[in-house]
Amino acid sequence: MQLQLPKLNPVTLHYFENCVGCGACAPSCPYFYVDEKYAPVEKAEILRQMLRKKYTLAGKLLGPLVGAKMPKSEDILWEYLEYAYRCTNCGHCYVACPYGIDSGAMVRLLRQTLYKAEVAPTLMRNFAQFEGEGLYLSHPAIKSMWEEFLKATEAPVGKKGARVLFLVTVMDLVLMRDAVFNTIKILKKAGEDFTLPERPLGVRPPIGAVVGNPDAVKKVITDIVSYIETLSPQIVITIDGGFVYPNLRFEATNVLKKKFSFKVLHISELLAEYLRENKLKLKKLDIATTWHDPCQLGRRGGVFEEPRIVLENFTNFRDMPHNRQNSICCGGGGGMGCLLEEEHMAMSKLLGVDIWSSLSEREKSFIKRSEAAYYKAIERKMEDVKKSGAKAVVTACPVCIATIARGAKLYGVNVEVDHLVNLVAKALE
Ligand code: SF4
Ligand code: SF4
Repeated sequence: MQLQLPKLNPVTLHYFENCVGCGACAPSCPYFYVDEKYAPVEKAEILRQMLRKKYTLAGKLLGPLVGAKMPKSEDILWEYLEYAYRCTNCGHCYVACPYGIDSGAMVRLLRQTLYKAEVAPTLMRNFAQFEGEGLYLSHPAIKSMWEEFLKATEAPVGKKGARVLFLVTVMDLVLMRDAVFNTIKILKKAGEDFTLPERPLGVRPPIGAVVGNPDAVKKVITDIVSYIETLSPQIVITIDGGFVYPNLRFEATNVLKKKFSFKVLHISELLAEYLRENKLKLKKLDIATTWHDPCQLGRRGGVFEEPRIVLENFTNFRDMPHNRQNSICCGGGGGMGCLLEEEHMAMSKLLGVDIWSSLSEREKSFIKRSEAAYYKAIERKMEDVKKSGAKAVVTACPVCIATIARGAKLYGVNVEVDHLVNLVAKALE
């Protein structure tokens, strides 16, 4: 079996070579909590074994004696898939590692290797293609959803030179419709010079990054950046604090190898700016809130303080015991929140194709195990929520919102879970 392994750069070479196996990263991992076999180092080791075999002389000569091996069958690749999809790319292991090794990045490379061998979850693989090839733009259900949205908003669309472009994606509308409308309400209230795009900018861009398809990532980012440049905004905002944020803010410049004339902000950063400049006044809400740091916005993106500044302004805010860099991942990111039967049903309904029935029995059983792991991973987060004493968990990623809401129901924690902009909209004066 011939596998296409990733080429190593100085950073990934460091991740490959310098792990000492101390295990300091393990307790941070939401899926180590589910089962110790999913420790970050164990997941990364699968890729390391292949890299040793391909790139080291000892590995080529001595194979398993020096921990070097290549999988010999597709069945083994499916076993590896189980490890590759027990990671949210939350970055907590990276923060915990004394050697600065990002095991999440190793898992991403493992996913990429499996993807190239055509072993990947069908739903995510199809969505990466659907987005990468721009097929979503001509899909009838998505087209009519977008047309209805534009009709209902009464907001500027495709306005050149507006200061702010509100980047709206298909999944923003599907998963966070209220937050999209409330963001528009807030932008109007703040007197912002803003515009909406004329078309959705991605499904949830770039989905290829989650499934390990760098070609789709490049196509999507190129398309989105080209469109943004035609409007020349100073600021592009997203309400999605999941992987959309760091990919557009940081990865896009790496992928396209150029600097942009606009900056990408998360809505919480713009809200903090409005409050600082007295462009928004919020009435006090008598509600005990806490902030769940989406890993991609916080640990990966560095946005910790702005949402707290906003919540402290108008609610009774308190942090969870684990917060900021040490925030506990909800367990839903990195596509884990898609590996549920109910998500397959929901996406089938949206697209008008029966995705679940098209899966092999092997994939269905992989999804069932993934689902059980996902529901276990959220337990630890819910303990932290309980300890905060909050009655509302506020966050900004659709997957975190859905995952924590499911966790609250499953583990009997009496909290509301909502997007930051929905709470701000309730407090507008
Ligand atoms: S990745 Fe870092 S913390 Fe984890 S086992 Fe290796 S050296 Fe230790
Ligand atoms: S990135 Fe997060 S989920 Fe992935 S291995 Fe590290 S701690 Fe675990």
